[in-house]
Amino acid sequence: MDDKEFGTRDKRGDWAPIKLLEPAPLWLFPPKPKKILAWIPAYFFPYNVLFMISSIIYWFLVIPPVETMSNFSWDWTINILVINMVLAFIWYQGWEVPLYIKKKQANRFKYNKSFPFDIKNKFFWFKNQTIDNMTRSMLFGVPIWSMLQILMLWTFSNGYIPWINFSENKIWFILMILVVPIIHDFHFYCIHRLIHIPILYKWVHSVHHKSVNPSPWSSLSMHPVEHILYFGTVFWHFLLPSNPIIAIYQLHFAGFGAVPGHIGFDKVEISSKKTFDTHAYMHYLHHKYFNVNYGGDGLVPFDRVFGTYHDGSKESDIRFKPKT
Ligand SMILES: [Zn+2]
Ligand SMILES: [Zn+2]
Repeated sequence: MDDKEFGTRDKRGDWAPIKLLEPAPLWLFPPKPKKILAWIPAYFFPYNVLFMISSIIYWFLVIPPVETMSNFSWDWTINILVINMVLAFIWYQGWEVPLYIKKKQANRFKYNKSFPFDIKNKFFWFKNQTIDNMTRSMLFGVPIWSMLQILMLWTFSNGYIPWINFSENKIWFILMILVVPIIHDFHFYCIHRLIHIPILYKWVHSVHHKSVNPSPWSSLSMHPVEHILYFGTVFWHFLLPSNPIIAIYQLHFAGFGAVPGHIGFDKVEISSKKTFDTHAYMHYLHHKYFNVNYGGDGLVPFDRVFGTYHDGSKESDIRFKPKT
């Protein structure tokens, strides 16, 4: 497919979409009901529905009985760690292999013309971004994700936090499912702003920002402190009456859902005529400019409110370009 129909390439060969980023129409004033109605399917598909389904399947196939989880023991906790590692590996490699290893669509729709694997960089472990990112994700990211998940399951199983069921409280149950992406965006914005404070940036968040040209494995390539803050999104389900399946959905949203921001391609080609949008541009711009788009996908409009919203336009480019 010809990416020139949808975007332009600059002198360096980097591609940018013509269509500017738009925040969720929920926040438009005056309200535009037609736009909101048209946006609702995009709220659910593909990622939100995918992670809802993955959390239900995960609950029935992976999670042990409540009596087992009420005591910490190596057998069920190790089982969860191993399964999470296998699933994360399949998920991230599932993006990395066609786009970055086999390069099935070359650099069509790719924001940064170069591929990280081709560039040696001494700032990365093994002087290679992909191997560095993969190692950090598997060594710290997935174990911390699993640890917090195990803590959540143990807490629910012992009745230390309220466990609501659909039959008991239908409206609250559905509401909790619907707000998972909003909790994620709100939480991510807050912790992300926090770790951009210079001292925390230097010691913690700079690890993630080493990947100026992110690829799928960059998603969970973070300092362990950032992993704890990032997956700490699960603690919202300690504060709000919830259900462990919804809390797993929250974790899948964080663990698997980090990939859309780091795909590096605006569209993924499924066939010679069909593509799907990745919604990666907002976070790509954060990796490129550092000081814009702290939120995940604009669902919570803090970037707009606090003047850090880069919509991909020339005006935003001029406004946020580092002063030299
Ligand atoms: Zn990132
Ligand atoms: Zn950042």
